Amino acid sequence: MKKRLVIGNWKTYIESNEDARKLAVSLRSKVRAVSGVEVWLAPPYPLLPTVAEVLQSSPIKVGAQALSAYPGGKHTGEVSAKMLKQVGAQFALVGHSERRAQGEGDEQVRAQLLQALQAKLTAVLCVGEHERMQDGSHFSFIERQLVVALDALPPKAKVIIAYEPVWAIGKSAEDAMQPADLEQMAIFIRKTLVETLDRSAGLKIPILYGGSVEPANARKLLAESGVNGFLVGHASVELEPFLEIIKSCK
Ligand code: PEP
Repeated sequence: MKKRLVIGNWKTYIESNEDARKLAVSLRSKVRAVSGVEVWLAPPYPLLPTVAEVLQSSPIKVGAQALSAYPGGKHTGEVSAKMLKQVGAQFALVGHSERRAQGEGDEQVRAQLLQALQAKLTAVLCVGEHERMQDGSHFSFIERQLVVALDALPPKAKVIIAYEPVWAIGKSAEDAMQPADLEQMAIFIRKTLVETLDRSAGLKIPILYGGSVEPANARKLLAESGVNGFLVGHASVELEPFLEIIKSCK
């Protein structure tokens, strides 16, 4: 697989253009020196044009945290893939657990993913169980999320999987998943991708981990689980911890 990938999901931690610009400018100069790692940022919608402008001639890509399941039309408050494309987005997260918690189901996530692909945005499909079950049923939960979203996609569709167990999100490094458990899940996800898609497509799709990745656990998680990088929430909105996580992926 190619370079490691680290995506920063700013959620609504950063709320002003000024703060967004400041962090993007710092990352623009610091990330240049880190070879072998791709860095993408997902600011909130209103801050996306500012961040895209700062990063326009930098290798850091900018994308959205969510998008509409519909093309334009009578959908009050929605943001379509075409709008995102126009303001410089190159990717979109779909199916983040904090969106699913607002009622977005697997079918809606699939529709969002198709909208992203149609607009030539890379779709970062987020999947994750609410809890780990003794009987292993969290594996079939993940399988369903993947199969509903990805079934019959064209082999060249630009998709990335972000495995984010909901129970590990927004906590601290001690609460994150253990590398051995993550390795087991990454193997299961890879097998599901190969069975659901064309074999070579299934082998190529990057699998990221998200859920309380911090400088304290990033290196070990990456080295011992076989994932291709991280989706980082709270630790991506402070320059130094985010840089440390990026460097640990070299
Ligand atoms: C996320 O919700 O995408 C995430 C990874 O959050 P955190 O790193 O804060 O757990």
